[in-house]
Amino acid sequence: MHSTYSPDGRMTMEEACHQAIKVGLTEIAITDHMDIDLPDNEEAFQIKDLNGYFKDLAQVKNKFQDILKVKAGIEFGLQDWTLEQATAITKDYPLDFVIASIHLVNGEDPYYGHYFNSRDKIKSYTDYYDTIYQLLNDFDDFNVLGHLDYLRRYSPYEYKPSDHKIGEEIIESILKLLVEKGKGIELNTAGLKHFSKQPHPHPDIIKWFRELGGEIVAIGSDSHKTEFVGYEIDRALEWLKYAGFEYVASFTEMKPTFVKI
Ligand SMILES: [Zn+2]
Repeated sequence: MHSTYSPDGRMTMEEACHQAIKVGLTEIAITDHMDIDLPDNEEAFQIKDLNGYFKDLAQVKNKFQDILKVKAGIEFGLQDWTLEQATAITKDYPLDFVIASIHLVNGEDPYYGHYFNSRDKIKSYTDYYDTIYQLLNDFDDFNVLGHLDYLRRYSPYEYKPSDHKIGEEIIESILKLLVEKGKGIELNTAGLKHFSKQPHPHPDIIKWFRELGGEIVAIGSDSHKTEFVGYEIDRALEWLKYAGFEYVASFTEMKPTFVKI
């Protein structure tokens, strides 16, 4: 989840912790945005004060330690020329959990409609997946790939229930690469806010990941405000079971442990 260290975050770390306790969670990870060197506004989605961020994380970890485990996380938005900087952050700061996300394709953000002007529905997905594959090939300092089919959130094309099958070969390569590297995927429940009513990625992709030997899935609400803390966690656990998982992953110092579901 995101705190006010993300420009679109609407809750402080403390507010996030109080809300997590209120809705019955026992563990959370704060994962603020770290998109280094964005093309139009290079600092827009960055934690501007990393030292302050980790200091505040240490404080809430300590304050809530008896009732809530708080993990120090980050969500990198990767581009091919920012991988070394991302690696340096994982070396310099005490991170428990790192999400590797891809928000841009060749500097273009699908959030803005023009990404889709030059791409039909299939190409809009396959270009995005190709970018994920290339970046993850060159990057190891993460735990899970964030919101694998995130593009769906912004696609202007009509949604079909079979859309998760677009780009299957590339998705398979991504999933195999993650298995080879001992990495996982994020089951992001924010996808449910979309009219497809599916998480990111689609449950059949999570099942496929399991069938290919994937073992690590972390559940994320992607919440930016308190009302979405713990959003649809129960359904996420059901999907994990549907996909063949008996455990959900938890991370400390970027090492996974497994919690029975
Ligand atoms: Zn993201």
